[in-house]
Amino acid sequence: MAQYVAAIDQGTTSTRCMIFSHSGEVVAVDQKEHKQIFPRAGWVEHDPEEVWTNTREVTAGALAKADLHAPDIAAVGITNQRETSVVWEKSTGKPVYNAIVWQDTRTDKICQDLGALGGGQERYRSKVGLPLATYFSGPKIRWILDNVEGARARAEAGELLFGNMDTWVLWNMTGGPDGGVHVTDPTNASRTLLMDLSTLDWDPEICAEVGVPMSMLPEIRSSSEEYGKVRERGALAGVTISGILGDQQAATFGQACLTPGEAKNTYGTGNFVLLNTGTEKVMSDNGLLTTVCYKIGSNDTVYALEGAIAVTGSLVQWVRDNLGMIATAADIETDAKSVEDNGGCYFVPAFSGLFAPYWRSDARGAIVGLTRFVNRGHLARAVLEATAYQTREVIEAMNADSGVPLKSLKVDGGMVVNETLMQFQADLLDVPVIRPVVNETTALGAAYAAGLAVGFWASEDDIRNNWAQDKQWNPAMDEATREKLYAGWKKAVTRTFDWVE
Ligand code: ADP
Repeated sequence: MAQYVAAIDQGTTSTRCMIFSHSGEVVAVDQKEHKQIFPRAGWVEHDPEEVWTNTREVTAGALAKADLHAPDIAAVGITNQRETSVVWEKSTGKPVYNAIVWQDTRTDKICQDLGALGGGQERYRSKVGLPLATYFSGPKIRWILDNVEGARARAEAGELLFGNMDTWVLWNMTGGPDGGVHVTDPTNASRTLLMDLSTLDWDPEICAEVGVPMSMLPEIRSSSEEYGKVRERGALAGVTISGILGDQQAATFGQACLTPGEAKNTYGTGNFVLLNTGTEKVMSDNGLLTTVCYKIGSNDTVYALEGAIAVTGSLVQWVRDNLGMIATAADIETDAKSVEDNGGCYFVPAFSGLFAPYWRSDARGAIVGLTRFVNRGHLARAVLEATAYQTREVIEAMNADSGVPLKSLKVDGGMVVNETLMQFQADLLDVPVIRPVVNETTALGAAYAAGLAVGFWASEDDIRNNWAQDKQWNPAMDEATREKLYAGWKKAVTRTFDWVE
């Protein structure tokens, strides 16, 4: 009998395939980065064909590393960078344009024009749980149809398909032009601005207004059920694909935040705090998103409140690649540890405007509080602290929306190896910060969704039992220091506003 489940994690910077055992342990990983394409300021694209090639390579790579074959794999789950949008030709599988990435701000005018029809940023919030913002897929699809010659007519004629990265990978794995399954799950669909959160169906009125023909949209199925089998003659040929969760929802699932009131924060390219609110959709008054957390088969839909922060780990990358100040991401901690504190310096990385809780596309990054005293150590500290301050802002919004203050925070993602950051985060939030043994919660969550659908795991209790703590950081900062630092951050944020029209 098959002893393992595979997960494909199509992320912002790389694509991974991970193989998990029944106890949730990582058996093998293979990973490949793809190009980040920046055609203009504010634009971010990926080449979907490169991503698909990498997906096949890492899948074969992971299996080879563990000396496993398709019959050893009970099921495959897919998790993905959310919102990133691809439009392709149904008959050939050829994308009509690069994938427009979630961080891309080119749809600002489209969003403003839609808001001007009435209601501004809040125009669709009551139905879709989201503000009108460049982050989400709907306006990105509209941009492609408006700007690629002939695309709108071809979409209306039913010749083009849309997908987020989950759908792009699934359609290709299940045969592409030759019978590919055109399906998504509610966690991904809830990030398009086009899905009604109550019915989990595309909303015809919003689709018409945003300018997206419904014929190009994938069918919305649950997050955990059999969608199809791997058709291509590759490493996983014949294996059932039975889980789809957007990356942040997958991490929430993998962190076993399965009870209302439990929350996790993933520290990757950006930071994403998700609070499980159970079967209740909590609408935010404080700049958070209401989103689908997961829908397992025919069970009731579980919702989440989300604080999405665009730039955290990618600020460390920027310091490495654009400034050359450090050679590797880990060096930021060495530099930060050379000083006691930030020396009065704050770095607000509003590179894609500001997401939660501000949703300001007019904001741009700023480094403030500079004096002759400030050195590279202080700057490194300010870079790390920016992640923690932004996290505190969304946790405060969450506490206000839910009425229940968070008691501890489960963390995961690439930045949580940074102990200096984790301690500062506990200090700034004044609650314990807890890291699990398996930090790869995103892939693990997708594996759980896939494995539950085929009976590899019996119930969500298996997920709870598999979760184990690795390390906990306890708050150790006095209140006066904590609040003084945070007040400095709040002031720094105001300096980033009104930068672009
Ligand atoms: P994603 O899944 O969003 O592509 P990951 O979870 O793999 O991202 O996290 C990668 C991010 O973590 C990168 O932006 C990188 O700059 C950051 N990172 C990696 N190691 C460290 C470290 N030691 N200290 C701070 N940031 C780090």
